[in-house]
Amino acid sequence: MTAGQPEGVPFVWSFEGSRPGPHLMIAGLTHGNEPAGRDAVLRLVEKSVRPLAGRLTLALVNPAAAALGRRFVDRDMNRLWRDDWLDEDSSSVEAARARELRPLLRQVDVVLDLHTTTFVARPFFVIADLAKTRALADRMAWPPTQQLMPGGCVDGRHLTDYGRFSDPGHPAVAVTVECGTHDAAASAGVALEAARRFLDVVQGRVPARPNASIERFRTKEPCIALTDRFVLRIPSTGFVAVRQGEVVAMDGGRPVEAPGDLVIVSPRPDPRAGQTAFLWCERC
Ligand SMILES: [Zn+2]
Repeated sequence: MTAGQPEGVPFVWSFEGSRPGPHLMIAGLTHGNEPAGRDAVLRLVEKSVRPLAGRLTLALVNPAAAALGRRFVDRDMNRLWRDDWLDEDSSSVEAARARELRPLLRQVDVVLDLHTTTFVARPFFVIADLAKTRALADRMAWPPTQQLMPGGCVDGRHLTDYGRFSDPGHPAVAVTVECGTHDAAASAGVALEAARRFLDVVQGRVPARPNASIERFRTKEPCIALTDRFVLRIPSTGFVAVRQGEVVAMDGGRPVEAPGDLVIVSPRPDPRAGQTAFLWCERC
C-alpha cells in the first residue's frame, strides 16, 4: 500500500489496495463551513483506511474557504463543475482549486461527497436522477431519504455532476450525502457512518439489503424569491409536505401558494431577491 499526495495536490490523500479495482473517492469541505465532512475525511486519513482493491482517494475540496471559516472564498465550489466555466474563470480561488482537482475527478470511478445543511437535521442523499446514482443510493440504503435532481443541480453544477458522472451511459457515479446541520455535534458521526457504509457497500464487504423505508423526492423546480423579504410560513426543517393552495411563505407581503400537493426541500435562510428560497419536490 502506498499513501501520499497524488501529483502533489494538497489536501488529497490516496491509498492503494493490494490488487486492481475501482478508484473510490470520499470528499469533504466542498463547502468550507461544513466541518463534518472534513472530520470524517481526516479520521479516515489518520486510520490509513486502505481499500480492498483499487485505490481510495480522500480529499478536502475547499480548504482555503475553511481556513477563513466561510462557505467559499469567491464563488460556490459546488456550483461550478463544468469545464468551460472552469476554463474561463481565471480569478476565483475556487476555479483554480477545481482545475487542480479536475484530473483526479476525471479518473475516479465512484465518489461520495459529504455535506451538511443549514436547517435540515435528517441526513439525506442528493443525487442526479439517473439509474446509476439511484442504484448506488439504494445499495447504500442509508440515509433512507433521497432527493433526486433531474438534470443535476438547479442553479449550477455540483461536483457530483461533473463530466462522466452526468453521463447516463458511463459507469462513473457520484453521490452527495447531507449529514445533518453544519453545527450539530452529531453531524461528524453521521458523515463517518456514511463514509463507512459507502466503503462497505461499494467494495462488497456487506451485502446490499433492500430497505423498505427508502423515501424518494424528485425535484420539480426551485421557488425563487422575488424580494429580499421572503419569510417561510412552514417549518424550516425540510421535507415538509404541503397541500395544493397552502400558503407556504410570504414574499414581500405576497403569499406563495403551493402549486400542488408537494414537499418542500432545502429551505434557504433569508433568501435575497433572485435566489432559490427552496425546492418544490414531489414524492416518487
Ligand atoms: Zn454543502
